[in-house]
Amino acid sequence: MTDAAVGSGRRGGTAPGGPSPAVQLPPVVAAEHQAAVAAFRESYTALPAGAPVRLAKRTSNLFRFRDPAPGARGHRGPQGPGAPAGLDASAFTRVLHVDPAARAAVVGGMTTYEDLADATLRHQLMPLVVPQLKTITLGGAVTGLGIESTSLRNGLPHESVTAMEILTGDGRVVTATPEGEHAELFRGFPNSYGTLGYALSLTIELEPVAPFVHLRHFRFSSPPACMDAIARIAADGSLHGHRADFVDGTAFGLDEIYLTVGACSDVAPWRSDYTGQRIYYQSVRGPHEDFLTIRDYLWRWDTDWFWCSRPFGVQRPMIRKFWPRRYRRSDVYRSLVAFDRRHRLSATLIANRGGAPREAVIQDVEIPVGRGAEFLSFFAAEVGMSPVWLCPLRLRSDSPWPLYPLEPGEAYVNFGFWGTVPLPPGRADGHHNRLVEAEVTALGGHKGLYSTSCYSEDEFWAAYNGPAYARLKSAYDAGGRLAGLYEKCVRGS
Ligand SMILES: Cc1cc2nc3c(=O)[nH]c(=O)nc-3n(C[C@H](O)[C@H](O)[C@H](O)COP(=O)(O)OP(=O)(O)OC[C@H]3O[C@@H](n4cnc5c(N)ncnc54)[C@H](O)[C@@H]3O)c2cc1C
Repeated sequence: MTDAAVGSGRRGGTAPGGPSPAVQLPPVVAAEHQAAVAAFRESYTALPAGAPVRLAKRTSNLFRFRDPAPGARGHRGPQGPGAPAGLDASAFTRVLHVDPAARAAVVGGMTTYEDLADATLRHQLMPLVVPQLKTITLGGAVTGLGIESTSLRNGLPHESVTAMEILTGDGRVVTATPEGEHAELFRGFPNSYGTLGYALSLTIELEPVAPFVHLRHFRFSSPPACMDAIARIAADGSLHGHRADFVDGTAFGLDEIYLTVGACSDVAPWRSDYTGQRIYYQSVRGPHEDFLTIRDYLWRWDTDWFWCSRPFGVQRPMIRKFWPRRYRRSDVYRSLVAFDRRHRLSATLIANRGGAPREAVIQDVEIPVGRGAEFLSFFAAEVGMSPVWLCPLRLRSDSPWPLYPLEPGEAYVNFGFWGTVPLPPGRADGHHNRLVEAEVTALGGHKGLYSTSCYSEDEFWAAYNGPAYARLKSAYDAGGRLAGLYEKCVRGS
């Protein structure tokens, strides 16, 4: 670590609560971590010039499929000279320290939220935003923009980071903080997708939690009614008297949309369990009230990968009974999808049966709440996939983050949709994804970059602040050792 104490004592955001003091690592942990950073840096600088660089991580939640980087556990991909070099990130997969008094933690950049939440819940604390999928890592959620049902209160995961230790593309290890020498890198790291450098450790704020979450599911029979309710929650912090510590939603159709509002609770008259035979997304249709432990709440969507476990048959009671519990996890389903995509199994099956080719439409988009109803109507007419996930958010910071310039103070709704739809006759792959991109732009929204993107270079840089990115790239990776953002996220290189 470059600094003895990580954590600048400053917040990235503007929410009340006061800055976390700098967090000191226990000396043994600090020494081990420093050795791991030095070794990682050495292996980075030893990579042959010009060879593409990839993190060798065991898990991923990207939806741009390619062979895993050499070095990743379970890797059986190419190893030849043209293959991307895999940097072993395994030394950065643990929580280095939780400081309950400071309500802060220092965390390895490739630590999964499953491990991170387990470490903090022991102290009745949690990160301010915990993305829904267990294997999303802290570094991945910061550089690739995670979101969750606390995002209306707490913004996005990067907004509760107070310091990041980054191996930059040009081979330096720097500590970026909101106001230090590398403040511009701190602000520009979110949505850079590992193209400026890799976060090796991050200091984050934590917040207290109660043992249970009391959920209420409110039904709306039109998109405008639902968007009005989100705007009310954004203004009041509650809906019909129920405190909105957590809020997200599920649209099964334009006339059947649910907002799930959760309040921290010290008591639970009953506790539901959606890790067994019952399935969480089906539960939002009724009964209208529910209780979960905080841990079960955090992972409510992971067991069935939202609803995306459906094609594997595991939502059928007979199959579910025999599908081992340890395989009811989003990373297992993602691996199955990755295998299918690489070997084109279902595409070949559909073609052999004479079915219409299908397009994968897997996206998360953010739309200002005032235009959210229009987006839902467009989506139902042009794409027609359901359910759709809704998650309101508002930046915590009072200034925009350069590479993903959401407006401070404005409430947005994240719409997430993950599946395939048949292509209309005569339309090529990309048809629906392009329609979604155009609509997002027309409605003043933004689109996450973890999946397919079809933007032209001009459109892309207009949406993702080309000038700011160019400045950062030349300051931290002038030699272009790491791929550029457009090359990585659109061209998939
Ligand atoms: C179906 C689906 C549903 C999703 N749902 C949600 C959701 O509900 N909530 C949510 O928050 N997000 C969601 N995501 C998006 C997810 O948060 C992002 O894709 C995130 O970047 C994944 O993080 P990861 O740790 O798995 O990183 P990876 O998938 O391994 O990597 C993502 C990118 O980040 C880079 N990267 C990874 N670690 C680091 C690091 N330490 N430093 C710098 N760069 C790094 C990688 O090089 C890569 O370009 C979803 C994605 C998919 C595919």
